[in-house]
Amino acid sequence: MNAHEMFVKQVDEAVPFLTVEDEYIEILKNPKEVLEVSIPLRLDDGGVKVVRGWRSHHNNALGPYKGGVRYHPNVSREEVIALSSWMTVKCATAQLPYGGGKGGISVNIRDLSPSEIERLSRGYAMAIARFTGTDIDIPAPDVYTNPQVMAWFVDTYEKINGRSEPSCYTGKPVEAGGSLGRGDATSRGGTYILREALKKHGLEGKELTVAVQGFGNVGGYGHKLISEELGLKVVAVSDSRGGTYNPGGLDHSSVKKHKTETGSIAGFSGGEDITNEELLELNVDIVVPAALEGVITESNASDMRACIVLELANGPTTPQADAILNDKNIEVIPDVLANSGGVTVSCFEWIQGRTGDYWTEKDVQKKLDEKLTTAFHEIWKIKEDFKISTRKAAYVRAISRIVAAMRFKGIWP
Ligand code: NAD
Repeated sequence: MNAHEMFVKQVDEAVPFLTVEDEYIEILKNPKEVLEVSIPLRLDDGGVKVVRGWRSHHNNALGPYKGGVRYHPNVSREEVIALSSWMTVKCATAQLPYGGGKGGISVNIRDLSPSEIERLSRGYAMAIARFTGTDIDIPAPDVYTNPQVMAWFVDTYEKINGRSEPSCYTGKPVEAGGSLGRGDATSRGGTYILREALKKHGLEGKELTVAVQGFGNVGGYGHKLISEELGLKVVAVSDSRGGTYNPGGLDHSSVKKHKTETGSIAGFSGGEDITNEELLELNVDIVVPAALEGVITESNASDMRACIVLELANGPTTPQADAILNDKNIEVIPDVLANSGGVTVSCFEWIQGRTGDYWTEKDVQKKLDEKLTTAFHEIWKIKEDFKISTRKAAYVRAISRIVAAMRFKGIWP
């Protein structure tokens, strides 16, 4: 099952609990439009490499398309469509005035120099410029893109259009129009959601252990905030090259220092090396996938021993694995809720850029907490009313909201 087939199955599984006409479900199973671009990239040695990229507009019933841009060798048209579809559901989950979009370039940035990455980023922003804009489609960071890349995107877009338009992209550096609190927003939002879930499960204040897969923006801050804000013990972390495990706990700043110095988590002296596969099956209370999709599958789900899976990555659990985890009474807090803090603070950044009224970090965190805590409890109520999984409940709530807007707007022309 590819990522888009996973999304379609997740929608189908929510349908029995919805009162929705079939035609709207059919519309939601397809992206509205997908732009495919070829970017000629001038290499430092004078040669040219043609790189392929995409931007998918899935649905804009609730507002302009919103979603990140991914740089990864496995990016494909189908993956970008799936990620944009999840964004539609996620923005509705967090009650944001947005639809779903996503972009990506099929490239291994480890093969490129910083100046090649800048030229590629500017080439992509230019190629998709007619597809984006503050009221059209607002891209943001995702895997292997960061605030610096957003700054190049905005600068390119503004130069093409000859005007200042800071809210055409979010996730920018604070110095270039970004919002305070955007850097750790995805993980912070996930921490708030986990806090509420622990209360529901009667686990608040207990000594719990955590394994985090991925040590980029989301996994790195995830390790830090889950330890600092919730007082839980993170015993395993990993990146694309492998992981480290210490049942006594891993100090975030020491792991980060090792990663900065050596480029990987593996080989950390404060733990024993483990593989990404082993990390998911550790005897811990909480597993946090925070890297790529499709890592929890029917072949490893039955070996998982955690009682909570907090999906900070997009699409980490296949529907087959989801069913196995549900049967084992493992609580899966779905991506569309668990990692919605990033797009929520992106929305705050968009508002600040449009009004010129910039908020304090404390204000950003307070508003984020209020929004996600409300979303969590509304979803939990649906879960309890229908006796369904948290993922199904989140889809029921999001699809109801999207379809309500689509009904008013009508199917036209
Ligand atoms: P990132 O580029 O900052 O970090 C990605 C991390 O994943 C790196 O540590 C990398 O080494 C690791 N990784 C890559 N391939 C791996 C593999 N095969 N096994 C284990 N680890 C691997 O990206 P990010 O922004 O932290 O995004 C991580 C996930 O969170 C993605 O699924 C992304 O879509 C999702 N997400 C990100 C945001 C955001 O605001 N950045 C928001 C919502 C969801």
